[in-house]
Amino acid sequence: MNKRAVILGAAESGVGAAILARKQGFDVFVSDLGTIKDKYRTELIERHFEFEEGRHSEDQILNADLVIKSPGIPEKAPMIVKLKEKGIPVISEIEFAGRYSSAKKICITGSNGKTTTTLLIYHMLEKAGYHVGLAGNVGQSMAWQVAENDFEYYVIELSSFQLDGMYAFKADIAILLNITPDHLDRYNYEMRNYIDSKFRITQNQTADDVFIYCADDPVVNLEMSERRLAAKCIPFGLGKPPAEGAGVTDNKIIINWGQNIFTMSIIDIALQGSHNTYNSMAAGISGMVVNIRNEKIRESLADFKGVEHRLERFLKVHGIEFINDSKATNINSTWYALESMSQPTVWIVGGIDKGNDYSQLYELVKTKVKAIVCLGIDNSKILEAFRTLGIDMVETQSMEDAVRSAYFLAKNGETVLLSPACASFDLFENYEDRGQQFKLAVREL
Ligand code: ADP
Repeated sequence: MNKRAVILGAAESGVGAAILARKQGFDVFVSDLGTIKDKYRTELIERHFEFEEGRHSEDQILNADLVIKSPGIPEKAPMIVKLKEKGIPVISEIEFAGRYSSAKKICITGSNGKTTTTLLIYHMLEKAGYHVGLAGNVGQSMAWQVAENDFEYYVIELSSFQLDGMYAFKADIAILLNITPDHLDRYNYEMRNYIDSKFRITQNQTADDVFIYCADDPVVNLEMSERRLAAKCIPFGLGKPPAEGAGVTDNKIIINWGQNIFTMSIIDIALQGSHNTYNSMAAGISGMVVNIRNEKIRESLADFKGVEHRLERFLKVHGIEFINDSKATNINSTWYALESMSQPTVWIVGGIDKGNDYSQLYELVKTKVKAIVCLGIDNSKILEAFRTLGIDMVETQSMEDAVRSAYFLAKNGETVLLSPACASFDLFENYEDRGQQFKLAVREL
Protein backbone atom coordinates (compact mmCIF):
# COMPACT_ATOMS: atom_id res chain seq x y z
CA MET A 1 0.00 0.00 0.00
CA ASN A 2 1.17 3.51 -0.74
CA LYS A 3 2.20 5.75 2.12
CA ARG A 4 -0.09 8.70 2.83
CA ALA A 5 1.30 12.23 2.71
CA VAL A 6 -0.88 15.02 4.07
CA ILE A 7 -0.03 18.56 3.09
CA LEU A 8 -1.17 21.33 5.43
CA GLY A 9 -1.48 24.71 3.70
CA ALA A 10 -2.17 24.98 -0.01
CA ALA A 11 -0.06 27.82 -1.35
CA GLU A 12 3.20 27.76 -3.30
CA SER A 13 5.07 25.38 -1.00
CA GLY A 14 2.05 23.14 -0.27
CA VAL A 15 1.03 22.61 -3.88
CA GLY A 16 4.67 21.97 -4.81
CA ALA A 17 4.96 19.42 -2.01
CA ALA A 18 1.77 17.70 -3.22
CA ILE A 19 3.14 17.39 -6.75
CA LEU A 20 6.45 15.98 -5.57
CA ALA A 21 4.81 13.61 -3.06
CA ARG A 22 2.60 12.09 -5.74
CA LYS A 23 5.58 11.71 -8.05
CA GLN A 24 7.36 9.84 -5.28
CA GLY A 25 4.46 7.39 -4.93
CA PHE A 26 2.58 8.80 -1.94
CA ASP A 27 -1.21 9.01 -1.72
CA VAL A 28 -1.71 12.72 -1.24
CA PHE A 29 -4.30 14.77 0.65
CA VAL A 30 -4.13 18.57 0.89
CA SER A 31 -5.87 20.53 3.65
CA ASP A 32 -6.03 24.29 4.19
CA LEU A 33 -7.80 25.87 7.15
CA GLY A 34 -8.29 29.11 5.23
CA THR A 35 -9.34 29.94 1.69
CA ILE A 36 -7.06 28.66 -1.05
CA LYS A 37 -5.95 31.25 -3.63
CA ASP A 38 -7.62 30.71 -7.01
CA LYS A 39 -4.35 29.99 -8.75
CA TYR A 40 -3.53 27.12 -6.40
CA ARG A 41 -7.10 25.76 -6.25
CA THR A 42 -7.13 25.52 -10.04
CA GLU A 43 -3.81 23.70 -9.96
CA LEU A 44 -5.14 21.17 -7.40
CA ILE A 45 -8.34 20.59 -9.38
CA GLU A 46 -6.63 20.23 -12.75
CA ARG A 47 -4.16 17.76 -11.31
CA HIS A 48 -7.00 15.80 -9.61
CA PHE A 49 -5.71 16.14 -6.07
CA GLU A 50 -7.97 15.34 -3.14
CA PHE A 51 -8.19 18.50 -1.03
CA GLU A 52 -10.28 20.52 1.39
CA GLU A 53 -10.36 24.17 2.44
CA GLY A 54 -11.86 26.08 5.36
CA ARG A 55 -11.27 23.12 7.67
CA HIS A 56 -8.84 20.44 8.80
CA SER A 57 -10.67 17.06 8.91
CA GLU A 58 -9.03 14.97 11.60
CA ASP A 59 -10.09 11.66 10.07
CA GLN A 60 -8.26 12.59 6.86
CA ILE A 61 -5.17 13.98 8.54
CA LEU A 62 -4.39 11.93 11.62
CA ASN A 63 -3.99 8.79 9.47
CA ALA A 64 -0.99 10.29 7.64
CA ASP A 65 2.41 8.62 7.45
CA LEU A 66 4.02 11.97 6.80
CA VAL A 67 2.83 15.58 7.11
CA ILE A 68 4.36 18.47 5.21
CA LYS A 69 3.29 21.74 6.74
CA SER A 70 3.44 25.31 5.51
CA PRO A 71 5.90 27.43 7.50
CA GLY A 72 3.04 29.82 8.27
CA ILE A 73 1.36 27.27 10.57
CA PRO A 74 2.74 27.61 14.11
CA GLU A 75 3.96 24.57 16.09
CA LYS A 76 1.26 25.33 18.65
CA ALA A 77 -1.63 25.04 16.17
CA PRO A 78 -4.03 22.37 17.58
CA MET A 79 -3.66 20.04 14.56
CA ILE A 80 0.14 20.11 14.77
CA VAL A 81 0.01 19.35 18.50
CA LYS A 82 -2.28 16.36 17.80
CA LEU A 83 -0.04 15.05 15.02
CA LYS A 84 3.01 15.28 17.24
CA GLU A 85 1.20 13.49 20.07
CA LYS A 86 0.52 10.64 17.67
CA GLY A 87 4.18 10.57 16.66
CA ILE A 88 3.46 11.43 13.01
CA PRO A 89 6.45 13.21 11.46
CA VAL A 90 5.76 16.84 10.53
CA ILE A 91 8.33 18.40 8.21
CA SER A 92 8.73 21.47 6.03
CA GLU A 93 8.58 21.57 2.27
CA ILE A 94 12.31 22.22 1.89
CA GLU A 95 13.12 19.21 4.09
CA PHE A 96 10.88 17.12 1.85
CA ALA A 97 12.29 18.49 -1.41
CA GLY A 98 15.86 18.00 -0.16
CA ARG A 99 15.27 14.24 0.05
CA TYR A 100 14.78 13.95 -3.68
CA SER A 101 17.41 16.26 -5.14
CA SER A 102 21.14 15.85 -5.29
CA ALA A 103 21.62 19.49 -6.27
CA LYS A 104 24.11 21.72 -4.47
CA LYS A 105 22.21 23.89 -2.02
CA ILE A 106 23.21 27.39 -1.02
CA CYS A 107 20.99 28.38 1.91
CA ILE A 108 20.56 31.79 3.47
CA THR A 109 19.10 32.71 6.84
CA GLY A 110 19.25 35.63 9.29
CA SER A 111 16.86 38.10 10.85
CA ASN A 112 17.36 40.65 8.05
CA GLY A 113 18.76 40.59 4.54
CA LYS A 114 17.69 37.07 3.52
CA THR A 115 15.74 37.99 0.40
CA THR A 116 18.30 40.52 -0.78
CA THR A 117 21.22 38.12 -0.36
CA THR A 118 19.34 35.19 -1.84
CA LEU A 119 18.45 37.13 -4.98
CA LEU A 120 21.97 38.51 -5.24
CA ILE A 121 23.52 35.03 -5.14
CA TYR A 122 20.95 33.73 -7.60
CA HIS A 123 21.78 36.62 -9.93
CA MET A 124 25.48 35.77 -9.65
CA LEU A 125 25.04 32.08 -10.43
CA GLU A 126 22.73 32.82 -13.35
CA LYS A 127 25.14 35.34 -14.76
CA ALA A 128 27.94 32.81 -14.47
CA GLY A 129 25.84 30.39 -16.53
CA TYR A 130 25.03 27.93 -13.75
CA HIS A 131 21.90 25.77 -13.94
CA VAL A 132 20.25 27.29 -10.88
CA GLY A 133 16.83 27.46 -9.22
CA LEU A 134 15.54 29.96 -6.67
CA ALA A 135 13.56 28.57 -3.74
CA GLY A 136 12.38 28.97 -0.16
CA ASN A 137 10.67 32.15 0.92
CA VAL A 138 11.31 33.74 -2.47
CA GLY A 139 10.67 32.28 -5.86
CA GLN A 140 8.99 28.99 -6.64
CA SER A 141 8.52 26.06 -4.33
CA MET A 142 11.62 23.89 -4.26
CA ALA A 143 9.54 20.69 -4.21
CA TRP A 144 7.75 21.79 -7.37
CA GLN A 145 11.05 22.42 -9.14
CA VAL A 146 12.54 19.13 -7.94
CA ALA A 147 9.46 17.32 -9.27
CA GLU A 148 9.25 18.99 -12.66
CA ASN A 149 12.44 20.83 -13.47
CA ASP A 150 15.29 19.91 -11.16
CA PHE A 151 18.41 22.06 -11.14
CA GLU A 152 22.09 21.49 -10.40
CA TYR A 153 22.11 24.33 -7.86
CA TYR A 154 19.48 25.92 -5.65
CA VAL A 155 19.72 29.21 -3.84
CA ILE A 156 17.29 28.89 -0.94
CA GLU A 157 16.00 31.54 1.46
CA LEU A 158 15.25 29.90 4.80
CA SER A 159 13.18 31.56 7.49
CA SER A 160 13.41 30.22 11.00
CA PHE A 161 9.92 28.75 10.49
CA GLN A 162 11.20 26.68 7.56
CA LEU A 163 14.26 25.64 9.56
CA ASP A 164 12.08 24.45 12.44
CA GLY A 165 10.64 21.75 10.18
CA MET A 166 14.03 20.57 8.91
CA TYR A 167 15.85 17.52 10.24
CA ALA A 168 17.95 15.58 7.70
CA PHE A 169 18.37 18.38 5.14
CA LYS A 170 21.94 19.52 4.54
CA ALA A 171 23.09 22.85 3.15
CA ASP A 172 26.29 22.57 1.11
CA ILE A 173 26.79 26.26 1.76
CA ALA A 174 24.96 27.84 4.70
CA ILE A 175 24.89 31.58 5.31
CA LEU A 176 23.87 33.23 8.57
CA LEU A 177 23.62 37.00 8.11
CA ASN A 178 22.68 38.17 11.60
CA ILE A 179 20.47 37.44 14.60
CA THR A 180 18.39 40.18 16.19
CA PRO A 181 15.11 39.70 18.07
CA ASP A 182 12.19 39.00 15.72
CA HIS A 183 9.17 36.68 15.69
CA LEU A 184 9.75 35.94 19.36
CA ASP A 185 6.04 35.24 19.77
CA ARG A 186 6.65 31.94 17.92
CA TYR A 187 9.56 31.06 20.24
CA ASN A 188 7.95 31.39 23.69
CA TYR A 189 9.57 34.82 23.92
CA GLU A 190 12.93 33.08 24.41
CA MET A 191 15.85 34.39 22.38
CA ARG A 192 17.59 31.04 23.02
CA ASN A 193 14.94 29.18 21.01
CA TYR A 194 15.17 31.66 18.14
CA ILE A 195 18.98 31.40 18.05
CA ASP A 196 18.82 27.59 18.05
CA SER A 197 16.33 27.74 15.21
CA LYS A 198 18.66 29.90 13.09
CA PHE A 199 21.62 27.59 13.77
CA ARG A 200 19.66 24.62 12.44
CA ILE A 201 20.97 25.81 9.08
CA THR A 202 24.29 24.16 10.06
CA GLN A 203 22.84 20.80 11.07
CA ASN A 204 24.12 17.77 9.15
CA GLN A 205 26.95 19.79 7.59
CA THR A 206 30.27 17.97 7.30
CA ALA A 207 33.87 19.08 6.84
CA ASP A 208 33.21 19.27 3.09
CA ASP A 209 30.56 21.96 3.59
CA VAL A 210 30.90 25.66 4.26
CA PHE A 211 29.27 27.88 6.88
CA ILE A 212 29.50 31.61 6.14
CA TYR A 213 28.64 33.91 9.06
CA CYS A 214 28.79 37.54 10.15
CA ALA A 215 31.64 38.02 12.58
CA ASP A 216 30.41 41.52 13.52
CA ASP A 217 27.13 40.23 14.91
CA PRO A 218 27.47 39.88 18.70
CA VAL A 219 24.87 37.13 19.02
CA VAL A 220 26.33 35.05 16.20
CA ASN A 221 29.85 35.60 17.48
CA LEU A 222 29.06 34.44 20.97
CA GLU A 223 27.40 31.33 19.58
CA MET A 224 30.42 30.59 17.41
CA SER A 225 32.67 30.62 20.47
CA GLU A 226 30.43 28.06 22.15
CA ARG A 227 29.53 25.71 19.30
CA ARG A 228 31.69 23.16 17.55
CA LEU A 229 30.57 23.09 13.96
CA ALA A 230 31.67 20.40 11.53
CA ALA A 231 31.66 22.66 8.47
CA LYS A 232 34.43 24.94 7.33
CA CYS A 233 33.50 28.24 9.05
CA ILE A 234 34.14 31.39 7.02
CA PRO A 235 33.54 34.79 8.63
CA PHE A 236 32.76 38.15 7.04
CA GLY A 237 32.85 41.57 8.69
CA LEU A 238 33.81 45.19 8.22
CA GLY A 239 37.15 44.79 10.04
CA LYS A 240 40.54 43.55 8.85
CA PRO A 241 40.25 40.73 6.28
CA PRO A 242 40.80 37.34 7.96
CA ALA A 243 43.14 34.68 6.52
CA GLU A 244 40.06 33.01 5.11
CA GLY A 245 36.88 35.07 4.77
CA ALA A 246 35.91 38.66 3.99
CA GLY A 247 36.84 42.04 5.45
CA VAL A 248 37.44 45.65 4.49
CA THR A 249 40.64 47.65 3.90
CA ASP A 250 40.77 51.18 2.44
CA ASN A 251 37.10 51.11 1.40
CA LYS A 252 37.61 47.88 -0.51
CA ILE A 253 36.14 44.53 0.30
CA ILE A 254 38.74 41.79 0.30
CA ILE A 255 37.81 38.12 0.26
CA ASN A 256 40.43 35.45 0.89
CA TRP A 257 39.47 31.97 -0.19
CA GLY A 258 42.27 29.41 -0.56
CA GLN A 259 44.83 30.91 -2.92
CA ASN A 260 42.24 33.19 -4.45
CA ILE A 261 41.93 36.86 -3.41
CA PHE A 262 38.94 38.93 -4.47
CA THR A 263 38.92 42.72 -4.17
CA MET A 264 36.32 45.32 -5.03
CA SER A 265 35.80 48.99 -4.12
CA ILE A 266 32.73 49.41 -1.94
CA ILE A 267 31.75 52.37 -4.11
CA ASP A 268 31.37 50.05 -7.12
CA ILE A 269 28.91 47.74 -5.36
CA ALA A 270 25.34 48.23 -6.56
CA LEU A 271 23.75 47.90 -3.12
CA GLN A 272 24.89 50.70 -0.86
CA GLY A 273 24.86 50.89 2.94
CA SER A 274 26.90 48.84 5.38
CA HIS A 275 24.17 46.19 5.73
CA ASN A 276 24.46 45.63 2.00
CA THR A 277 28.23 45.42 2.22
CA TYR A 278 27.65 42.46 4.52
CA ASN A 279 25.15 40.94 2.09
CA SER A 280 27.55 41.44 -0.81
CA MET A 281 30.44 39.87 1.10
CA ALA A 282 28.35 36.82 1.98
CA ALA A 283 27.34 36.52 -1.67
CA GLY A 284 30.92 37.00 -2.87
CA ILE A 285 32.24 34.26 -0.60
CA SER A 286 29.62 31.80 -1.78
CA GLY A 287 30.46 32.69 -5.40
CA MET A 288 34.11 31.88 -4.74
CA VAL A 289 33.22 28.62 -3.00
CA VAL A 290 31.34 27.45 -6.11
CA ASN A 291 34.28 28.57 -8.28
CA ILE A 292 32.78 31.54 -10.06
CA ARG A 293 35.50 33.71 -11.56
CA ASN A 294 36.35 36.90 -9.65
CA GLU A 295 35.49 38.99 -12.67
CA LYS A 296 31.94 37.56 -12.82
CA ILE A 297 31.45 38.04 -9.09
CA ARG A 298 32.53 41.66 -9.43
CA GLU A 299 30.17 42.22 -12.36
CA SER A 300 27.25 40.65 -10.50
CA LEU A 301 27.79 42.71 -7.37
CA ALA A 302 28.03 45.83 -9.54
CA ASP A 303 24.96 45.37 -11.73
CA PHE A 304 22.45 43.81 -9.32
CA LYS A 305 19.25 45.80 -9.54
CA GLY A 306 18.22 45.51 -5.90
CA VAL A 307 14.90 44.29 -4.58
CA GLU A 308 11.65 46.23 -4.47
CA HIS A 309 10.69 47.71 -1.06
CA ARG A 310 14.25 47.33 0.32
CA LEU A 311 15.89 50.76 0.35
CA GLU A 312 14.48 51.21 -3.13
CA ARG A 313 15.50 54.60 -4.53
CA PHE A 314 12.20 55.26 -6.18
CA LEU A 315 11.88 58.75 -7.59
CA LYS A 316 13.09 62.35 -7.32
CA VAL A 317 10.39 65.01 -7.14
CA HIS A 318 11.67 68.61 -7.29
CA GLY A 319 15.08 67.43 -6.18
CA ILE A 320 13.71 65.44 -3.22
CA GLU A 321 14.60 61.77 -3.33
CA PHE A 322 11.93 59.31 -2.18
CA ILE A 323 13.18 55.96 -0.85
CA ASN A 324 10.88 53.01 -0.25
CA ASP A 325 12.08 50.72 2.56
CA SER A 326 8.65 49.34 3.41
CA LYS A 327 10.15 45.91 4.14
CA ALA A 328 11.90 47.36 7.21
CA THR A 329 9.58 45.89 9.82
CA ASN A 330 11.95 45.92 12.78
CA ILE A 331 14.39 48.31 14.48
CA ASN A 332 17.51 46.65 13.12
CA SER A 333 16.62 47.04 9.45
CA THR A 334 15.56 50.67 10.01
CA TRP A 335 18.83 51.30 11.84
CA TYR A 336 20.75 50.33 8.69
CA ALA A 337 18.45 52.40 6.49
CA LEU A 338 19.02 55.51 8.58
CA GLU A 339 22.73 54.82 8.77
CA SER A 340 22.99 54.76 5.00
CA MET A 341 21.31 58.17 4.54
CA SER A 342 23.71 60.80 3.25
CA GLN A 343 21.32 63.79 3.05
CA PRO A 344 19.02 65.36 5.68
CA THR A 345 16.11 62.97 5.89
CA VAL A 346 12.39 63.18 6.56
CA TRP A 347 11.61 59.80 8.06
CA ILE A 348 8.20 58.11 7.77
CA VAL A 349 7.83 55.56 10.57
CA GLY A 350 5.09 53.56 12.31
CA GLY A 351 2.57 50.75 12.08
CA ILE A 352 2.25 47.74 14.35
CA ASP A 353 5.12 47.72 16.75
CA LYS A 354 6.45 44.27 17.72
CA GLY A 355 7.93 45.55 21.00
CA ASN A 356 10.41 48.07 19.60
CA ASP A 357 13.03 49.81 21.70
CA TYR A 358 13.32 53.12 19.84
CA SER A 359 16.18 54.36 21.99
CA GLN A 360 18.49 52.24 19.79
CA LEU A 361 17.80 54.75 17.01
CA TYR A 362 18.35 57.99 18.99
CA GLU A 363 21.93 58.61 17.92
CA LEU A 364 21.19 58.08 14.23
CA VAL A 365 17.99 60.09 14.34
CA LYS A 366 19.86 63.01 15.90
CA THR A 367 22.43 63.06 13.10
CA LYS A 368 20.38 62.05 10.05
CA VAL A 369 16.75 63.00 10.56
CA LYS A 370 15.32 66.51 10.18
CA ALA A 371 11.66 65.59 10.71
CA ILE A 372 9.59 62.57 11.66
CA VAL A 373 6.27 61.68 10.05
CA CYS A 374 4.40 59.08 12.11
CA LEU A 375 2.14 56.82 10.09
CA GLY A 376 -0.10 54.47 12.01
CA ILE A 377 -3.38 54.04 13.83
CA ASP A 378 -1.62 54.44 17.17
CA ASN A 379 1.42 56.71 17.03
CA SER A 380 1.67 57.43 20.74
CA LYS A 381 4.71 55.25 21.44
CA ILE A 382 6.75 56.86 18.66
CA LEU A 383 5.70 60.38 19.65
CA GLU A 384 6.66 59.61 23.23
CA ALA A 385 9.98 58.00 22.27
CA PHE A 386 11.28 60.87 20.13
CA ARG A 387 9.65 63.88 21.81
CA THR A 388 12.78 64.75 23.78
CA LEU A 389 14.98 65.03 20.66
CA GLY A 390 13.37 68.32 19.67
CA ILE A 391 12.82 67.27 16.04
CA ASP A 392 9.70 68.28 14.08
CA MET A 393 7.08 65.56 14.32
CA VAL A 394 3.84 65.14 12.40
CA GLU A 395 1.14 62.55 12.97
CA THR A 396 -0.69 60.97 10.02
CA GLN A 397 -3.02 58.05 9.47
CA SER A 398 -2.90 57.54 5.72
CA MET A 399 -0.08 57.10 3.23
CA GLU A 400 -1.29 60.02 1.16
CA ASP A 401 -1.08 62.37 4.15
CA ALA A 402 2.25 60.97 5.22
CA VAL A 403 3.83 61.47 1.80
CA ARG A 404 2.36 64.96 1.41
CA SER A 405 3.53 66.03 4.87
CA ALA A 406 6.99 64.64 4.19
CA TYR A 407 7.13 66.47 0.87
CA PHE A 408 6.36 69.79 2.54
CA LEU A 409 8.95 69.20 5.25
CA ALA A 410 11.77 68.26 2.84
CA LYS A 411 13.80 70.66 0.68
CA ASN A 412 15.58 70.29 -2.64
CA GLY A 413 18.54 67.90 -2.21
CA GLU A 414 17.02 66.16 0.81
CA THR A 415 15.54 62.70 1.21
CA VAL A 416 12.20 61.23 2.25
CA LEU A 417 12.62 57.74 3.66
CA LEU A 418 9.78 55.31 4.35
CA SER A 419 11.38 52.84 6.79
CA PRO A 420 8.61 51.98 9.22
CA ALA A 421 10.37 49.66 11.76
CA CYS A 422 6.91 48.18 12.23
CA ALA A 423 4.57 45.67 10.65
CA SER A 424 1.99 47.07 8.26
CA PHE A 425 -1.28 45.38 9.18
CA ASP A 426 -2.95 48.37 10.87
CA LEU A 427 -3.42 50.36 7.65
CA PHE A 428 -2.22 48.04 4.87
CA GLU A 429 -2.61 44.48 3.67
CA ASN A 430 1.11 43.78 3.94
CA TYR A 431 4.45 45.49 3.43
CA GLU A 432 4.16 45.22 -0.37
CA ASP A 433 0.83 47.05 -0.28
CA ARG A 434 2.39 49.71 1.98
CA GLY A 435 5.30 50.16 -0.44
CA GLN A 436 3.00 50.33 -3.46
CA GLN A 437 0.78 52.93 -1.79
CA PHE A 438 3.89 54.95 -0.96
CA LYS A 439 5.00 54.92 -4.57
CA LEU A 440 1.53 55.80 -5.81
CA ALA A 441 1.32 58.75 -3.42
CA VAL A 442 4.78 59.97 -4.50
CA ARG A 443 3.81 59.74 -8.16
CA GLU A 444 0.75 61.85 -7.49
CA LEU A 445 2.64 64.72 -5.84
P1 ADP B 1 14.49 39.44 4.95
O1 ADP B 1 14.19 38.57 3.77
O2 ADP B 1 15.44 38.77 5.92
O3 ADP B 1 13.30 40.05 5.62
P2 ADP B 1 15.19 41.61 3.15
O4 ADP B 1 16.31 41.42 2.20
O5 ADP B 1 13.80 41.49 2.65
O6 ADP B 1 15.40 40.66 4.39
O7 ADP B 1 15.36 43.04 3.83
C1 ADP B 1 14.52 43.41 4.91
C2 ADP B 1 14.92 44.78 5.46
O8 ADP B 1 16.19 44.68 6.09
C3 ADP B 1 15.07 45.86 4.41
O9 ADP B 1 14.62 47.06 5.02
C4 ADP B 1 16.55 45.89 4.12
O10 ADP B 1 16.99 47.16 3.67
C5 ADP B 1 17.15 45.54 5.49
N1 ADP B 1 18.39 44.74 5.38
C6 ADP B 1 18.88 44.10 4.30
N2 ADP B 1 20.02 43.45 4.60
C7 ADP B 1 20.25 43.66 5.91
C8 ADP B 1 21.29 43.26 6.82
N3 ADP B 1 22.31 42.48 6.44
N4 ADP B 1 21.20 43.69 8.11
C9 ADP B 1 20.18 44.47 8.52
N5 ADP B 1 19.18 44.91 7.71
C10 ADP B 1 19.21 44.51 6.43
